[in-house]
Amino acid sequence: MAFEGLTERLQNAMRKLRGKGKISEADLRATMREIRLALLEADVNFQVVRQFVKTVEDRAKGSKVLEGLNPSQQIVKIVDEELTKTMGEEAVGLNKAPKIPTIIMMSGLQGAGKTTTVGKLALKLKNEQNARPLLIADDVYRPAAIEQLQTVGQQIDVPVFEMGTDVDPVEIAKQGLKKAQEDHNDYVIIDTAGRLQIDEKLMDELKNIKEAVHPNEILLVIDAMTGQNAVATAEGFDKTLDVTGVVLTKLDGDTRGGAALSIRAVTGKPIKFVGQGEKMTDLDVFHPDRMASRILGMGDMLSLIEKTQKEYDEKQAQELSEKIKENSFDFNDFLDQLDQIQKMGPLDEIMKMIPGMANNPAMKNVNMDPKDMDHLKAIIYSMTEQERTDPDIMNPSRRRRIARGSGRPIQEVNRMIKQFNQMKTMMNKVSKGNMSGMENMMNQ
Ligand code: GDP
Repeated sequence: MAFEGLTERLQNAMRKLRGKGKISEADLRATMREIRLALLEADVNFQVVRQFVKTVEDRAKGSKVLEGLNPSQQIVKIVDEELTKTMGEEAVGLNKAPKIPTIIMMSGLQGAGKTTTVGKLALKLKNEQNARPLLIADDVYRPAAIEQLQTVGQQIDVPVFEMGTDVDPVEIAKQGLKKAQEDHNDYVIIDTAGRLQIDEKLMDELKNIKEAVHPNEILLVIDAMTGQNAVATAEGFDKTLDVTGVVLTKLDGDTRGGAALSIRAVTGKPIKFVGQGEKMTDLDVFHPDRMASRILGMGDMLSLIEKTQKEYDEKQAQELSEKIKENSFDFNDFLDQLDQIQKMGPLDEIMKMIPGMANNPAMKNVNMDPKDMDHLKAIIYSMTEQERTDPDIMNPSRRRRIARGSGRPIQEVNRMIKQFNQMKTMMNKVSKGNMSGMENMMNQ
């Protein structure tokens, strides 16, 4: 899985803060030290790391996080926001020409995934915009390169323009463009040559192609698995070509994440797409915020924290977390929670924000009817005060009475009590830092 090493280390660093009502400056320093090491080990550029750590630390100190509500959650939130900023904040789309065709020139080292990405991008444009792209085979040094692009073109049913290997690449690019204009293609994607490393001849050739066809978009294809080298390559290409965006490939095999986290900060150029597999459909728009959450292994937990923070006042939240920790959460608290949840919105939407839930097969069967919530409440209303505060006394005759009182079937009462107990165990586990407890619950 992508980034697993980094995710695990960042989670460990921040887990130590969990459950602390207050964080000392020494705690913060220790956590930041671990985050710094985690990022360096992930091969993130050291200057990027230094800046990142300083910003997070300043923000944590400056905003009185250390004394506030749930300091560890707030630090997670700051780390997430700063990771997002480091990677560029917003997703950046493709540049488009005022009139067709939009010209996209691909560049990158040999083996980075250029030809594959040309195909993936063409397919994406075709599927999502109903576009009619033309691919230009402009790598004349490797005869196999033209064949490879033709194979890709056939696979996705997109035409490929080629003039063999004896013509100057600048001329091929010009002729290809002319053909696209005649055929009214709306995109032209030029597959240029690569080398094993940057050399002057290659750079001159790419510069000449650029000057001949004036691309609207010059995408640099970079192999994420090469870490710091990827960043150096990006700087090298950018110096000559002034690229307009980066495609980071092989993210599916990148356990470290250094390139993803450094490229934007070092070059100032946005990562526009990421390749996450060898199939033609494995190309995705790069969303810095989603990538940050993924690096932190958090699903969309942050939206959930934000949502709950909005609905709760601090005192309530503090009391609740104490109760969960002491395992004294009872049916009255459950009733409060049901009210809060009903205020927040549809339950199945909220559940999906919990890490591991969105793609959890168990979620398929979760079909929360607002009426179910009212039934749950009716069952609790039919309990005596003693039953609500001491859920352990719930024997069969009490259950039958509650069923009669609430007008719900006994099976539903039993199910609800069972779920309540499971939820209580789960929340207690989560409060002690064992997230997998939650997933185990859902898989039962
Ligand atoms: P080029 O020399 O830059 O044109 O690179 P190619 O397009 O020939 O790709 C080199 C190798 O990387 C091929 O085996 C591709 O299947 C593989 N590849 C490209 N993109 C990805 C990706 O996002 N994930 C994975 N796993 N493999 C990729």
